[in-house]
Amino acid sequence: MRTAEIRSRWLEYFAKHDHHIAPSVPLVSPDPSILFTIAGMVPFIPYIVGTQEAPWPRVASVQKCLRTNDIENVGRTTRHGTFFQMNGNFSFGDYFKEGAIGFAWDLLTTSQADGGYGLDGDRLWVTTWDQDTEAHAALKQIGVDERHIVRLPREENFWDTGQPGPAGPCAEFHYDRGPEFGPEAEGGTVDPGGDRYLEIWNLVFDQFLRGEGTGKSYPLIRELEQKSIDTGAGLERIAYLLQGKANMYETDEVYPLIATTQELTGRRYGADGEDDVRMRIVADHVRSALMLIGDGVRPGNDGRGYVLRRLIRRAVRSVRLLGVDEPVLPELLPVVKDAMAPSYPELERDFASISDVAYGEEEAFRRTLVAGTTILDSAVGRAKAAAGGAGRPQLPGTDAFALHDTYGFPIDLTLEMAAEQGVAVDEQGFRDLMAEQRERARADALAKKSGHVDPAHYRELQDRLGGSTLFLGYTDTTAEARLV
Ligand code: ATP
Ligand code: MG
Ligand code: MG
Ligand code: MG
Repeated sequence: MRTAEIRSRWLEYFAKHDHHIAPSVPLVSPDPSILFTIAGMVPFIPYIVGTQEAPWPRVASVQKCLRTNDIENVGRTTRHGTFFQMNGNFSFGDYFKEGAIGFAWDLLTTSQADGGYGLDGDRLWVTTWDQDTEAHAALKQIGVDERHIVRLPREENFWDTGQPGPAGPCAEFHYDRGPEFGPEAEGGTVDPGGDRYLEIWNLVFDQFLRGEGTGKSYPLIRELEQKSIDTGAGLERIAYLLQGKANMYETDEVYPLIATTQELTGRRYGADGEDDVRMRIVADHVRSALMLIGDGVRPGNDGRGYVLRRLIRRAVRSVRLLGVDEPVLPELLPVVKDAMAPSYPELERDFASISDVAYGEEEAFRRTLVAGTTILDSAVGRAKAAAGGAGRPQLPGTDAFALHDTYGFPIDLTLEMAAEQGVAVDEQGFRDLMAEQRERARADALAKKSGHVDPAHYRELQDRLGGSTLFLGYTDTTAEARLV
């Protein structure tokens, strides 16, 4: 089943069960406290925390998401992308646990001929909060194997916003992919880091009002009057299960990028573990870049723009590590646009301007790389020589700073490229130099703004010199200001 169809089945299923269908909001988060939309619930936060009344009692969506915290996972785990799509259904004071568990089980296990996803119910495992007797009862009632209900403490399966307000237990549906993906769960637990039990759908039951406290040590003050349901299921994860693929990079929306990367580099996917990781990074990051630019993000040196810049740079560098030095986005971007356009037709409409931004950034980075790589390599050589084989060589902060200041190498690029050659970087030294530079820039800016130099400097000088000075410039253009 193609990803676009899994998506439309989701929306049809929940529309049939009286949900309003909300379009995806952009990746630029509508909630000002976070940079990106990281989950389907983000546009609905005011209804969940109760600062606004929800316009509909139940709603469903397929939300574009971006999680920068997963950037290091990309390509290394089988299940994380920076960009992904989260299918969600939500209830604001309408149905609660029983309803949400019922919908999840029904949609996952109903046969494909009858509009469901046709997964085998005997392979579903659900992690719960160990005190959540209501969820346990509902899960058993619906047909989940008792031995597949995993009870976890609050630290492991409980949602909150990090501050007083709504909070509540989760029930997370996992799918057992079978013995070829790892050993059977022991002692009634699923291994969250492994490949065998894949987390597909998180149901959050916003049930309590929580009080002050760090971590999960806060008190649960009382039950909320208006309880909410917030769920999120990874579209790509369902897709690779239904498409019988090993991971999310091999699904119909992502694999065309891997295929094109193989053609461009002449390397074969599946032949070498490290090359495979690089190909997945290329695929993920190019797709994320397309979606971010499509939502109006532009490359820059901080915030969202920097995330976009970093994604493009990591993709370009990964292709270089696969042996290709030519520009690659003109080959890759149209491929992923074609794969994503069935669900996001605006990508087709806006492609000329999206691709201008992406190709321009690749060109700029290629210039940066050409200039900086030689400098980095010789600095790495010096660091290795200085270490003389004793201990891990370390690149001095001054080198990292020069690379940043003169060649536009961001620190994380220096860190990554040095690490590839077994060299550490004195990050603290780099940060100290950056702080000094910022301080200088601040003083300059202040001087420019006020039209004259910061008088504090003169006061300081005056204090040091121990008196006031007499200005002689009107009468004497050669004499230095003399102390009086
Ligand atoms: P994981 O434990 O695998 O990192 P999570 O617990 O962080 O996932 P949730 O915050 O519960 O994920 O998000 C709900 C669902 O969104 C997950 O069950 C999963 O199907 C999907 N999902 C989360 N992160 C990603 C990602 N980086 N790439 C693809 N799908 C994801
Ligand atoms: Mg995660
Ligand atoms: Mg998880
Ligand atoms: Mg989860």
